[in-house]
Order: sequence, then C-alpha cells, then structure tokens
Amino acid sequence: MGITNTANNSFFESVQRNFDKAAQFTRFDQGIIAQIKACNSILRVKFPVKIGDSIEVIEAYRVQHSHHKLPCKGGIRFSMEVDQEEVMALAALMTYKCAIVNVPFGGGKGGIKIDSRKYTAFELEKITRRYTSELCKKNFIGPGIDVPAPDYGTGAREMSWIVDTYSSLNPTDINAQACVTGKPLSQGGVHGRTEATGLGVFFGIREACAFQEDMEKLGLTPGIAGKRVIVQGLGNVGYHAAKYFQEAGAKLVGLIEYNGAIYDENGLDVDQVQAHRQTTGGILNYPGAINFSDPAEGLEQACDILIPAALESVIHKDNAERIQARIIGEAANGPLTSEADTILNRKGVLVIPDIYLNAGGVTVSYFEWLKNLSHVRYGRLEKRFSENMYNELIDIIESTTGKRVSDLERKMVLRGPSEIDLVHSGLEDTMVDSYREIREIYRNREGVEDLRTAAFICAIDKIGVAYEQLGIFP
Ligand code: NAD
Repeated sequence: MGITNTANNSFFESVQRNFDKAAQFTRFDQGIIAQIKACNSILRVKFPVKIGDSIEVIEAYRVQHSHHKLPCKGGIRFSMEVDQEEVMALAALMTYKCAIVNVPFGGGKGGIKIDSRKYTAFELEKITRRYTSELCKKNFIGPGIDVPAPDYGTGAREMSWIVDTYSSLNPTDINAQACVTGKPLSQGGVHGRTEATGLGVFFGIREACAFQEDMEKLGLTPGIAGKRVIVQGLGNVGYHAAKYFQEAGAKLVGLIEYNGAIYDENGLDVDQVQAHRQTTGGILNYPGAINFSDPAEGLEQACDILIPAALESVIHKDNAERIQARIIGEAANGPLTSEADTILNRKGVLVIPDIYLNAGGVTVSYFEWLKNLSHVRYGRLEKRFSENMYNELIDIIESTTGKRVSDLERKMVLRGPSEIDLVHSGLEDTMVDSYREIREIYRNREGVEDLRTAAFICAIDKIGVAYEQLGIFP
C-alpha cells in the first residue's frame, strides 16, 4: 500500500503533535509532561535465520514506551513498513490507550520487518522463536516486564510460538503463560480475545451513536440499525467489527482489501465475502457488487460510518476531502494523518480516535493476563453457585406467588456466567465507560475541539497523576 518510512516519520510526528496539543489543556509540570511523552527503552536487533539454502538477516524491534506501570503491553507486527519510528509511535499509543481504558500497563510495541506472505509457516516459526529468544536475552519479555500480543500480520499461532519459547528458556517461572496474550485457548488464552478488538470497535461506535444530540449534528439518527458502513481490512479487527455491525442491523455497503474494494448499496454479507475471497483469492468480482481495482477508491464511497482497520496513514491530505462518511471509527492505529484529521474535523466528521476505539484488544489481553496469573478460568468458581442460587430464587417466587415459571423462562434465568459472558461484559463496560469519560472532557473542557484531543487529555491526566504519586527517584 506504499507506506514509506517518510510516512512512518510523519506518523510518529503526528502522535507527538496530538500529545502536545492535548498537554496544553492539562495542569502538569513540564518535566512530567516530557517524561510521559518520552520513549523509555528501545531494542533494535538484527539476527540471522536460515531460509531455504541461504541465511537472511532479519531486522526487529521492541519498544517500551512507558515504565510508569509494569508490565509494558503491546502487539507485535510483521510488516515491511516496520521501522523504529513506527514502533515508537505505536508503543506511545499503547501507553495512552491503556490509561484511557484503565488497564494498569505501560505501553510497548514490537515489530519484525518481514513480508509474512513470503515465508512458509515453518520459516515464520523460526523467525518468531529467534525474535523471542532475543527478547528474553535483553529482558524485553516476561509476565512482569513486557507482555506482547497479536497485531498486524500476527495471531494466536505466533503467540503460541512465543509462549513456548519463553517457557523453555524460563522453566521455573510458574507464571510463564502470562508472558504474552492472544494465545490459543489450549496455551492459556482467554475466551473472547480473538474478536475483542473488533467487538470493542463495535461497542465504541455504538456508544457514540447513542447520543441523539451528537447524531443530530452529523445529520444522522441515533442507533446502529440501518447505518451504511464501509470497512477497510478484513483481518482480525476488520472482520469481527464488520460482523458485529452486520448482526446489529447495519448495512455493510463496502469492503476493502489490499488488492481491491467492493461496494453494494444493498448490503454485503461479510461471511459470504470471506468465503468468496477464500475460493478466488480476493474480494473482487463478488456477485452483485461494484469493483474498484484501486482499494483506496473504496474509502471514498458513500456511507455513514467508515472503519479503517488495516494500516496507518491511509487517509491523508490528498483523499480526506473526498471522504463521504460522517463518522470515522479508527479501528487501525493511526489511519489518519494529522493533515487529514484537520480536514475531516473542519468538515464536521466525528472521528473516534484509535487510542480509545481499538483498546478492546488490550482490555481483553489484560483479562487474559489476570487469568494466567490466577491460574483459574473465569467463572469456574461462581458459575454453578449462581445457577443454584437463581434456582432457589425462582422456587421462592413460585411458592410465594403460586404461579409456575415456564421451563424455557427457568432455563434462561438459570444460566450462570461463563468465561465468554464475563469477558464480553467486562469489555462492553470498559468501552462504554471510557467513551463517556472522553466525551465529558470533549464537551466540558474549554477549547477542546475534537475527541482525539479529549482522549489524549484523558490519558495524560491519568498518567500525570500516577507520576505525581509515584514520586520521581532522586
Ligand atoms: P490483520 O493482519 O489480521 O489484518 C489486516 C488486514 O488488512 C489483512 O486482511 C490485510 O490483507 C488487509 N490490508 C492490508 N493492506 C490493506 C490495504 N491497503 N487496504 C485494505 N486492506 C489492507 O491485522 P489486525 O490485527 O486486524 O490489525 C489491523 C489494524 O488494527 C492494525 O493497525 C493494528 O495495529 C490495529 N490493532 C490490532 C489489534 C489486534 O488485537 N489485532 C489491536 C489494536 C489495534
């Protein structure tokens, strides 16, 4: 998609600029502001891996942006666009994101500069395991130090290689499973992590759409049902976000992948499009839809909500004017350049910022980490107890009223919470509460003009207080 190192440069600068803009609205000492902004530790490694008959030198990074709370937390991405600036920017976003959703971690991020499509699974495993051993050697991974997770180009499979490598190198660490999140269930993962970021994106946008006065300003009605949605990137985040919007009655009018976009004003079915993609190798030529061989054109089609869920800087000064959406939900990290942000704010578009909107992944990662440290599945202790208690309650209601509850009603009430119920409800609560907190700052703090600035203020306020209370080591 042609994202260059210059783009990463400006991505990093735009994160810094957003931070500076927000810092003016806070009350902290300049030293504390400078410390919140600074990247605390940076690891850059180059290591050799045997690929076929030759040896390839792989470039990789891990950045711990903030140690104000430990462990550091943030995904690992596999992409040719990875460089130090990009990883620093993403790690900084993680710090602010964790603070916004009250997850007690510092921000971190990792990246391996590879095009994962060029390697076999076995070669990717070798690269991932070697990267993990580099992190172990340099003390850049561990349940209390730094805990990676999936990101662009990685998923449960890579996390499984990481936990296995870390555990082999730290055989006496009883909490070894908590060294990484986003693992498969069999390796200590938590139910609900896979869809967490996409579901969080859905909860966040749904909450934004619930405020009648905000929707009126955009010329929209409240609620999700009937809204026209375009999603860019049908990977982990984009696919799940699209699925939840579809289930809530939104109309998926456009879907965009790296090799083309499709549009159908009557609505697309995301699972059927995925099936078509699997059989044909792409989403183009889906029955009944209009094709765009240039995926960027897909972003500019008519819709109410646009959800970029691929990579950064996809909306920039040259296409921002042509964006028709009234709401942009930043599911990806940094999908808007700062020039695009300015243009869209001027057009009155509601931009729901990445540092809040895609925090569902880290929120559920936090739940997974807690599960690993407590060595017990959520719901294991209380599920049966709750069911017995509800049963007795229904018996009491029946005997006092003299009326019988139907078997179906009893069955519905009797369900004690399972792990997935608890994870989804914890995620929903987090996304709803955090949106309200940011909106409150947006509406009530003098001079704050957009949700992104409000979200940064929310983060700086919380981290600043943490530093003040931590005291600075003399
Ligand atoms: P992924 O690798 O699962 O999916 C990315 C998708 O985007 C792929 O299907 C890819 O083919 C597609 N894509 C690539 N270039 C594109 C282009 N130019 N146009 C359209 N589609 C394109 O990655 P993911 O985990 O879904 O992450 C996507 C974004 O969300 C990244 O910015 C990531 O940092 C962010 N994010 C991910 C998580 C998570 O939990 N996975 C959490 C927070 C933020």
